[in-house]
Amino acid sequence: KSFNELGIIDALVEACETLGWKNPSKIQAEAIPHALEGKDLIGLAQTGSGKTGAFALPILQALLKNERRVPFFACVLSPTRELAIQIAEQFEALGSGIGVRCAVLVGGVDMVQQTLALGKRPDIVVGTPGRLVDHLSNTKGFSLRTLKYLVLDEADRLLNEDFEKSLNEILDVIPRERRTYLFSATMTQKVRKLQRACLRNPVKIEA
Ligand code: AMP
Repeated sequence: KSFNELGIIDALVEACETLGWKNPSKIQAEAIPHALEGKDLIGLAQTGSGKTGAFALPILQALLKNERRVPFFACVLSPTRELAIQIAEQFEALGSGIGVRCAVLVGGVDMVQQTLALGKRPDIVVGTPGRLVDHLSNTKGFSLRTLKYLVLDEADRLLNEDFEKSLNEILDVIPRERRTYLFSATMTQKVRKLQRACLRNPVKIEA
């Protein structure tokens, strides 16, 4: 099936074509129709499968339909700085024609720069759990109360000792009424527990 046949709107299909994405990857073909129906997702997928597109396209499509354009529409949690940057780049590339704004909140980078980015009220926030919590506690005007989509990317790697406390703090302050997409390379006991705590009647897909 083509992106169009999966239900992706023309503006985003064009963005895919610009990136050289002619057809959906397997995980995209499986995930996108369920995501567009409003389902929560669990994706068993590795990097390289196209998982970023699988969650970014439905979120961007929902963002376009959201006329009020609330800030902090979606939050993506990633275990590493490099992955967070790559995810934000894909959101920006896919959303370039529709003026999507992203902020990247990762450690090892000046807080001030990130605070300025948050002041522009971005649509999408991509970050590592620790730095995201730092901003939730310290950056005026930033909260996730308006969030509609949460993505837990590489969830197995998010569940290490360093991140667990921050992750729980984030889960405590985001709206219960939201869509949640969890992606993981492996399905561990801890991932299953996180899934039960965070997702509602999820559809399970595999790359
Ligand atoms: P990911 O697994 O999300 O990290 O994506 C891995 C790489 O595949 C990235 O460089 C993407 O740009 C690329 N990619 C994602 N979806 C597609 C697609 N449908 N067709 C071709 N390349 C893709």
